[in-house]
Amino acid sequence: MITVKNFVNGNFVSVEETIEDINPATGEIIANIPRSKANDVEEAVHAAETARNSWSNLSLDERRGWLEKIANALESRSEDIAKLESLDTGKPIKLARAVDAARSVANFRFFADFSKDYTEEKFEMDDATNHVIFKPVGIAGLITPWNLPLYLLSWKIAPAIVMGNTVVAKPSELTPLTANLLAEVIHDVGLPAGVVNIVHGLGHEAGQTIVAHPKVNLISFTGGTITGKKVAETASPMFKKLSLELGGKNATIVLDDADLDSAIPEIARSGFLNQGQVCLCGSRILISNNIWDKFIEKFVNFIDGMKVGDPSSDESDLGALVSFAHRDKVESYIHLAQREGGEILCGGERPNLASPFDKGAFLRPTVISNLDYQSRTATEEIFGPVVTLHPFESEEEAIEMANCTDYGLAGSVWTSDLVRGKKISEKIETGMVWVNTWLHRDLRVPFGGVKDSGVGTEGGRWSLGFFSQPVNICVKD
Ligand code: NAD
Repeated sequence: MITVKNFVNGNFVSVEETIEDINPATGEIIANIPRSKANDVEEAVHAAETARNSWSNLSLDERRGWLEKIANALESRSEDIAKLESLDTGKPIKLARAVDAARSVANFRFFADFSKDYTEEKFEMDDATNHVIFKPVGIAGLITPWNLPLYLLSWKIAPAIVMGNTVVAKPSELTPLTANLLAEVIHDVGLPAGVVNIVHGLGHEAGQTIVAHPKVNLISFTGGTITGKKVAETASPMFKKLSLELGGKNATIVLDDADLDSAIPEIARSGFLNQGQVCLCGSRILISNNIWDKFIEKFVNFIDGMKVGDPSSDESDLGALVSFAHRDKVESYIHLAQREGGEILCGGERPNLASPFDKGAFLRPTVISNLDYQSRTATEEIFGPVVTLHPFESEEEAIEMANCTDYGLAGSVWTSDLVRGKKISEKIETGMVWVNTWLHRDLRVPFGGVKDSGVGTEGGRWSLGFFSQPVNICVKD
């Protein structure tokens, strides 16, 4: 049993009430975590405020050096990250190693390196020079979800602190363990006290208190669209700098000239990676009528062969969903699909697993066809191992179908004609589109959604811009 404490002003501190943290693959309680209240958040904000001046007075190079130290120390604990992430989320350990652990280290290393040129810009006039400098915004409130816990937390902490801000972060109450590991690493490397504070607890308590705190100048939130609206309702009238990375219902468009043998494993990955619990997952697959039968046969065969089970086994392609409540939600969408006339081509039920995984929140990967592309199942975010298949006649129809949801996060197009693929991509109303690949990430490029998928952009210079305040100093010659 792990005991998790808040990390405030460089110390690990207990709070009065705790919440149980459950391993969703077995149902066992694995940790007790703080249920922080307003006074606990207040302490963290006070620590962040006290640390503000001295941290922002360090040079950019000094702060970059701290990021490198954190990256190195985190890297030495990569296997611990993978084990904890797998235990806490139910995801396969091979995925936690390749994605969660690797990317968490990479985020600190990337921003340490990439920020070195983000210093000052000059704009010359005939008789004056404009110097644009980048000041810290102040105290950053960072709120993250459970699907990629340390990956997303480090994606916010690294650019926030390198630009001179101090941080109060609240990880998801469902997956607190790797945020705690990061606190240990930050403690071990000796980062100045109060620069990073981590407060655990519930969203409507600790999370809401951070968002509403008058001394927190900036909110970076990643989570669901409904929660994002609540965050915006509080933060916007307070004129806080706000970034919202929200849900998605991403389309995968398969054109008739796609090379199905190479595309299908990647389309399967895009539908089912992390049990379909990635905001970018392609959960609506739009398929040219010309290849409909061939695609279904190959795709369903591939998905049926995916192994669900023990997350610590390298054999498992899918582990458990994050919680029993979340599996209930995903199953309710499978029932809705049946009421909407959908035909389940594979999955749709829980796997038969041996003890202790018979008590876990597992679900077989599920493929559904025969649904109207405007049905609720095909337009609402399910965030689980469920994809729907829809035929189209023409490119125009595929684009109209892709754009028919309230979301606008990502999408992918599969074709052997790259010009055609790019042309279609330009017409898809999302922040990101991949052609013949998916979740192929370059950390320099913009990341963010349009429509109900969010406001603001992360990644590379967009993150550095968000976590800083540009100030122009115009000097007359
Ligand atoms: P969620 O919105 O339930 O919770 C996210 C975080 O917000 C948690 O830490 C939670 O405790 C906190 N929270 C809840 N209510 C709050 C409130 N009133 N005020 C402040 N904080 C509050 O989301 P989730 O279920 O943890 O994550 C799944 C969602 O996240 C999906 O919709 C997914 O698409 C989205 N997501 C988006 C991205 C992206 O980059 N766009 C990435 C990952 C996940």
